Amino acid sequence: MGTVIRLKCDNGDYDKAFSIGSGMRYIPKAEIPEYLDDKQKFEFERFLTPDSVINQRQSLCFCKRCNEYGTMKVFDVKNTKIKHFTADSECGHKAYNFKLFGNPLEKDDITCPVCGRKLHISNVGSWD
Ligand SMILES: [Zn+2]
Ligand SMILES: [Zn+2]
Repeated sequence: MGTVIRLKCDNGDYDKAFSIGSGMRYIPKAEIPEYLDDKQKFEFERFLTPDSVINQRQSLCFCKRCNEYGTMKVFDVKNTKIKHFTADSECGHKAYNFKLFGNPLEKDDITCPVCGRKLHISNVGSWD
């Protein structure tokens, strides 16, 4: 189950909600996500072994190019140890433009892209 978080600025210039997290579902290795481009699929396959299982989740991210928060698909590949594979974001910019936030509710460095104040982060719902 995922959560919906709200990022709100006291200044009144920023108030948005984002769906993050994932289910407990692990995707079998054969199901390499279709929305990856060829280069990403190649990178993805490099991480995999025959007994790999992959968990996909949405993570809060900040795009330095857009100066805006968003969500990005992150893959946890479980072999002997967990590795992460980050897919490009919805805005189309490449992963190196982004800062990823593991658990936004535990972070205090999430600031308003408009005025720079610290944003209030609250859990406002959940999704399957
Ligand atoms: Zn962007
Ligand atoms: Zn602000």
